[in-house]
Amino acid sequence: MAETDKAPPNSAAKVERATLYVVSTPIGNLRDITLRAIDVLSAVDLVAAEDTRHSRKLFGEYGVRTPMISFHDFNKERQAPKIIKELQSGKAVALISDAGTPGISDPGFYLIREAIRTGIRVQAIPGPTALIPALILSGLPVHRFVFEGFPPPKKGRRRFFEALAGEERTIILYESPHRLQRTLADLLSACGDRNVAIARELTKKFEEILRGRLSELIKSVESRPLKGEIVLVVEGKQKKDKEKA
Ligand code: SAM
Repeated sequence: MAETDKAPPNSAAKVERATLYVVSTPIGNLRDITLRAIDVLSAVDLVAAEDTRHSRKLFGEYGVRTPMISFHDFNKERQAPKIIKELQSGKAVALISDAGTPGISDPGFYLIREAIRTGIRVQAIPGPTALIPALILSGLPVHRFVFEGFPPPKKGRRRFFEALAGEERTIILYESPHRLQRTLADLLSACGDRNVAIARELTKKFEEILRGRLSELIKSVESRPLKGEIVLVVEGKQKKDKEKA
C-alpha cells in the first residue's frame, strides 16, 4: 500500500460533495464492517438503505446518526430521481443494502447505473459480500469462477440450467431455502452429478458448509431441510466430461 493510502483508524472520513458512496455492510456478523465504511456512513448527508429498520441496528451498534431514506426493489423507480436530485444539489449520499455489497443481486444496481448515467461521481467502499466466502470455503477451484445470481424461479429456468451445463468455471448461485431442493434436482438433471457446496448462514451463529456430490446433498437436504440464507457453489464442467460428451 502506498504511504499516502494509509489512514489511522478512527480518522473521520472526509467525504466529497455530490458523490454516491456504495458502502458494503455485514452479511450477518455486525463486526464485519470496515473502519472506512463507518467513517463514511457517519459523514455523508444521507444514507439510502434497502430496509431502514434493519439498518438501524447497524447504525445503533456504531453510533451512526445520519438520516436514512428507503430505497428498495418496490420503490426504486420512484426514489432514484429524488436521491439523484440530492446528489446534484451537492449532497454526499451513501447507498447500503440489507447485507453485503449493494448492487450484487439487490436493487443497488439501479441507483448506481442512474448515478453514472447522470454524471454523478460514484465511489465504492469495499467490504463483505456472500459469494466470496462461499467460494473459498467450497474447496472447489477458485482461479476461475462465474457468479450467476438467483436462478429464475419460473420463466427461463430450464434454459438457465441447460446453459450452465457447459460452463467450465466454478459456478456461484444465490438461492432461497424453499427453492433449494428443486434447484439441486435441476442442477443434477442438467449438469450431472457434480461436486457442490452449500454455504448456509455465513458469519452467523448457525453457519454451516455442506460439501459433496449433488446426489448426496439432495439426500441430505431431503432428510434435513435447510433454513436461512444460502449460497450454492457448483463445480464447473470437467475436461474429461467434455471428452466423453
Ligand atoms: N448484496 C448481497 C451480497 O453482497 O452478497 C446479496 C443480496 S441478495 C438479495 C441475498 C442473498 O445473498 C441471499 O438469498 C443468499 O443467497 C445470499 N446471502 C446473503 N447473506 C448470506 C449469508 N450470511 N450466508 C449465506 N448466503 C447469504
